Order: sequence, then C-alpha cells, then structure tokens
Amino acid sequence: MNASIYDELKRAIRTIPDYPKPGIQFRDITTLLGDARAFRLTVDELVRPWTDAAVSRVAGIEARGFILGGAVAHQLRAGFIPIRKKGKLPHTTVRVAYSLEYGIDEMEMHRDAVTPGERIVLVDDLIATGGTAEAAAQLLRNAGAEVLAACFIVDLPELGGSRRLREAGIPVRTLVSFEGH
Ligand code: AMP
Repeated sequence: MNASIYDELKRAIRTIPDYPKPGIQFRDITTLLGDARAFRLTVDELVRPWTDAAVSRVAGIEARGFILGGAVAHQLRAGFIPIRKKGKLPHTTVRVAYSLEYGIDEMEMHRDAVTPGERIVLVDDLIATGGTAEAAAQLLRNAGAEVLAACFIVDLPELGGSRRLREAGIPVRTLVSFEGH
C-alpha cells in the first residue's frame, strides 16, 4: 500500500479519547465506513493478498467485523460466517471461552457453518491484545477450517495481538497502526 493511501485511511479513522473508559483511545471506524472512497480502498487493500487464493468463506467477528466481513466476502466471491457473542445465534452452536480484561466471555458460531478443510479468512476492525481474534480462530480451527489469515483495518502493535496471532501460525494483515491503547 502506498504512503498516500495509508495516510488517507488513517485520517478517515476518528479517535475518541477516554472512551469507553479513561486512558483508552477509541479508534472509531464509522467515519471511515461513511466515506465511500476510504471504505472501498479499505476493502480493496484488505483482500489484495487473497484474490486468487480460493477462499471459500470469510468469518466476521461481531459487530464491526460483520460490516467489513460482508464486503470482503463479496469481493472474494466467498460466503460469510458470523461469529457472535453467546446466545445470539438461532441454530445449534459451537462455543469458545476467551479472556477479557475483567473476567471471561464466550463467542459462538453455528455448528454447521464450516465444512472441514475449508479455507477461511477472519475479519475484524481492530486488533489489540489479540484475545478476541485468537478465540475466533480457535473456533474455526476446532471445526476443521484452515484459517488462511486474519485481517484488520487497525493494529495497536504495543498490545501485541498481531504478534500473538502470527505465533499461533496465522498470517496477519493490518492496514494502519496507532501507538498506545
Ligand atoms: P482484543 O481482543 O484485545 O484484540 O480487542 C479487539 C476487539 O476490541 C475488537 O473487536 C475491537 O473492535 C475492540 N477494541 C479494542 N481496543 C479498541 C480501541 N482502542 N478502539 C476501538 N476498538 C477497540
């Protein structure tokens, strides 16, 4: 990605200081999604490495990963799988627990969403500690999927999530980085 596109995408993301709590710089991608050119550039850049990779489905993490993941799936001519917080999906689910800053939570996917051996790309808006994405990748792998890669608009490298995913054997693509939390 060239430097001017990098700058354009970074500028399209709004930062809300101290949200949802003091010390967090919330990287709000709704401004990027609302900008037709930035949204299209984002999807084009995110899919670039996998346009000829025979991706069968894209998995998006609730909720901003749904918006991006739908567009990415369309672009890759792939299906879409929602990964949701527990209790939201109507059919039989498989579940994985993951740690949050305070306590643990669980995420779910429909048990029949994945066929073993399928090639899947995981999508969310941002990677921080990597706990959410690693749990989603675990859910997909437990169901027999091959997680080809995980992609995100924003990386917070100081929180180590992209390194953690790479160490788990998952290639990571991010478009812009911000310092801090
Ligand atoms: P983590 O599991 O720590 O990688 O956190 C990633 C999830 O939390 C993603 O779904 C993000 O949308 C959200 N998130 C974490 N930190 C931020 C932040 N600074 N700004 C916006 N979203 C965040």
